[in-house]
Amino acid sequence: MKAHETLPLLPIDSGDGVWLKDFEGKRYLDGVSSWWVNLFGHNEPRIKAAITEQLNTLEHVMLAGFTHEPVVQLSEKLGALTGLGHCFYASDGASATEIALKMSFHYWRNIGQPQKNQFLSLQNSYHGETIGALSVTDVAIFKDTYAPLLRQSAQMQSPDARLAEADESAEAYANRCADFLEGFLKQHHTEIAAFIIEPLIQCAAGMGMYHPVYLKRAREVCTLYQVHLIADEIAVGFGRTGTMFACEQADIKPDFICLSKGITGGYLPLSVTLTSDEIYQAFYDDSVARGFLHSHSYTGNALACSAALATLAIFEQDDVLSKNQAKTAYINSKICTWHDLPIVNARNQGMIWAFDVQTKNQQFQQHFYQQALAEGLLLRPIGNTVYWMPPYVISQDEIDFMLKTTKQVVIACA
Ligand SMILES: *Cc1c(COP(=O)(O)O)cnc(C)c1O
Repeated sequence: MKAHETLPLLPIDSGDGVWLKDFEGKRYLDGVSSWWVNLFGHNEPRIKAAITEQLNTLEHVMLAGFTHEPVVQLSEKLGALTGLGHCFYASDGASATEIALKMSFHYWRNIGQPQKNQFLSLQNSYHGETIGALSVTDVAIFKDTYAPLLRQSAQMQSPDARLAEADESAEAYANRCADFLEGFLKQHHTEIAAFIIEPLIQCAAGMGMYHPVYLKRAREVCTLYQVHLIADEIAVGFGRTGTMFACEQADIKPDFICLSKGITGGYLPLSVTLTSDEIYQAFYDDSVARGFLHSHSYTGNALACSAALATLAIFEQDDVLSKNQAKTAYINSKICTWHDLPIVNARNQGMIWAFDVQTKNQQFQQHFYQQALAEGLLLRPIGNTVYWMPPYVISQDEIDFMLKTTKQVVIACA
C-alpha cells in the first residue's frame, strides 16, 4: 500500500474486447488477459447473454443433495474433453489444488496405504497460495514467510529448457530431469501419494517452457511406482498452449486435472478438479468416512457454470484453436526479426510468448510496467521476463500495437 502512494491504483471504468478503459477515457490493451483468465475479450456478448439468461432462472443452489442443469452439462462436457469422468467444483485455483492433494491422499488411505502421505512438485512450481497449495509451490517470495506453517514436500529438478546446459537440447535436458524423477520415485515411492505438475509451462516461474517428453516420462514412472500424477492446468488449460489441454501434447492422461482461470472466459470464479473412475470407486461406499468430505459454499455455482458452458460453446462456434494457430504464426514471424534488442530465450507455446531482457536496471520490472501503461499497454513482467498472454480475440492491428509498444518500452527500460 505504501508503494501505491507513488504509484496510484488504476481505476477501470469499462472493458471491451482486448481493451480496458479508465475514467479519463484512456485505453489499455490487456496483454496479460487480466492475469490469465480472459479468453475472448471483455464484454463478450455470448458469455454475457448466457449469464443473464441463467440469472433469470436460478442464480445458485447448494450442490449438497441438489443439482442443476448447468453443472450437469458442464460436467458431461469436461468429462468428454479430458477423459476424466468425475468433477469436483470449487471457486478458485488454489482450492482445486487442495482438493486434488486431499483426494489423492484419501484414495491411498481408502485402499489401505495411508503411509502414502507425501507430495512432490517441481522446482519453481506454482500451485496457489492457500496453506496446502503453498506447500507444493516453490516460489521463495510467496513461500518463505509462511515456511513454518507449511508441510514439507520434495521438489524435483525443473525441466524448464532455460536450465539446460549450453550444448544440451530441451529434449535431452527434459529426459535428464525425468531420470532424476525416476531415481527419486524408485527410492521413495512407498511414502508418496502424488506428483503435481504444471504441464508444458511453469507460468508463474516466468513462463518456463519445457519439452513434452518430460510429461510422457513422468506419466510412465508415476504409473510404474503407483504415484498419482496431478496436472495443474489452471493457467495452461482451455487452449493456451495450442491444444485444448496441455497434456494432449504429450498424449498422456493424468489421474487428476485441476482447471480454473480461463474456464469461465474470465467472467466468474470457478474451478474444478477432475479424476478417474478408479479413484472415484475407492470412495464409493456406505461408510461416510470413506467419502470425500470437502465442501465450499459456492461449489458448482450456476452462474459460473453457465459462463463456462458459453465459453466451451465459443471454442466450437468460432473454431478457436485453429484460428489461434494463425495468430501464433503471425506473432512468431514478427518477433524473429527482433535482432537488435537485448533479449534472450525468446520462446512461444500456443498463445503465450516470453523473452528475458538482459539489463542492469535493477528496477526493470517496475519501470517496464509503468512505461508500458503510459503507452496504453498492460503487461506485467516477471522479474526480467516480459511475456504476452493476450485474449484470443486480439486482432492483427492490436497485435501490431502490442509488439511495437513492447519493443519501444524494452529499449527505453533495458
Ligand atoms: C493461478 C494459478 C493457481 C492458483 O489459482 P488461484 O485461482 O489464483 O487460486 C494454481 N496453479 C497455477 C498453475 C496457476 O497459474
